[in-house]
Amino acid sequence: MRKISRQTENSKGRLLVVDDDVVQRTVIGMIAAKLGYDTVTASTFDVASELLQGESFDAMTLDLSLGEHDGVELLRLVAECGLQALPIVVISGCEERILNSTMRVAEGLALNLTGCLNKPLNLDKLRVALMLPPYARLSYQSRNAVQDITREQFLTGLEKTELAVEFQPKVDLKTGRVIGAEALARWRSAELGVVPPGTFIPAAERLGLMPELTNHILLLAIAQGRKLIEEHPGFTIAVNVSGSLMTDLALPERIESMLRAEQLLPASLIVEVTESVAMSDVDRATDILVRLRIKGIGAAIDDFGTGYSSLAALARLPFSELKIDQSFVKGCDSDEDMMKIIEASIGLGRAFKMKVVAEGIEDPRTLSRVREAGCDVGQGHLFAPSLRSERVAAWMLRQHSSGGGFGLPVFSNASAPEARHQPDMLAGQFP
Ligand code: C2E
Ligand code: MG
Ligand code: MG
Repeated sequence: MRKISRQTENSKGRLLVVDDDVVQRTVIGMIAAKLGYDTVTASTFDVASELLQGESFDAMTLDLSLGEHDGVELLRLVAECGLQALPIVVISGCEERILNSTMRVAEGLALNLTGCLNKPLNLDKLRVALMLPPYARLSYQSRNAVQDITREQFLTGLEKTELAVEFQPKVDLKTGRVIGAEALARWRSAELGVVPPGTFIPAAERLGLMPELTNHILLLAIAQGRKLIEEHPGFTIAVNVSGSLMTDLALPERIESMLRAEQLLPASLIVEVTESVAMSDVDRATDILVRLRIKGIGAAIDDFGTGYSSLAALARLPFSELKIDQSFVKGCDSDEDMMKIIEASIGLGRAFKMKVVAEGIEDPRTLSRVREAGCDVGQGHLFAPSLRSERVAAWMLRQHSSGGGFGLPVFSNASAPEARHQPDMLAGQFP
């Protein structure tokens, strides 16, 4: 991936404004300057394309109609240039369905679309879209800085326990009670800074160190989650297990002995496997999942909807939980197609007696829609980001003492959205 960031302490960096309308370019440029961007403008596809290929930018606004060309062509070019991390705000006068489909194209290209605005441009919304959260910018810098993580750097991270675990709460959508948490790996390296999971997990796969990482996270999650499990009957901890581990037939026994060492019941753990992994070698995945389930350990199909499972294969795999991918959940309050996918997933979950979890709930409207559709459990920034284990305990205490607080953003920093969306590590709460 090409390095693009040139940010300094006080500047937000360089913003590329692509719009064929001179008035729009000027207005966007003025607002961006007030926010601390150095703005470069492009009025045509060709100029934008030359700039993107020759210069560095920290963010881009993109008008979908560009005379002879259109914005989707430019999105494709951004992807071809390896600029997947570049935050992009799309601005368009097109109808909503076209805007929604454009978002899907960007998602398919794994682009970092941070906003979609309709014309006539609402200046407040533009201001908000350009105030990129520190997390987006931080992870984007890190992604570029740590392309080539070495074996030594990764092993140092494991040995020095820079690789830590945080927990994102899961909420029962009927009672409002917190019923579990997903353990998410976090790495703050002394040498590399904050490295996001999207970077270090592929690196661990490439270096053949995924078994070491998974063991490390499993041990931490079980040890640190133990207090939560003991103090809250029925509480479960979920751990992500990657594809390379789903071929390891000894995995169920290893997990069972880790639980036994901490004197925890098997039912306190859920193993999350992404849909694409479960489907890539269904026979092996079935072997491992069946034995996990026989031992009483839970199994969740993660990122459901992104892996094109055949229904027959899904029926054979003994999952206890289905986690609907956040890409469907995020758009569901304004996009009926997304809502239909959610309803179909819930129906499927019911048919196979699985608990259905909606991931990525960020606002109250989305919450009420997934709840009305019959989802059992919710997870997302509306409730809380990932937190260190002791902060989960304190958060749960507040949540439950306020009578469940359900339907409301219950995280203590609810009035400060940027802080609320940051994992503990990024909010300076990391050990
Ligand atoms: P995942 O398993 O689907 O985890 C959920 C991801 O969604 C997490 O990202 C979480 O922070 C994020 N998230 C939760 N709620 C919201 C929300 O409301 N809005 C937004 N925008 N995001 C939300 P994270 O921590 O960056 O992890 C990304 C992926 O990396 C995970 O996706 C998982 O596949 C992988 N991962 C994380 N930790 C581990 C691990 O220990 N082992 C393995 N194998 N994979 C891991
Ligand atoms: Mg997961
Ligand atoms: Mg997921």
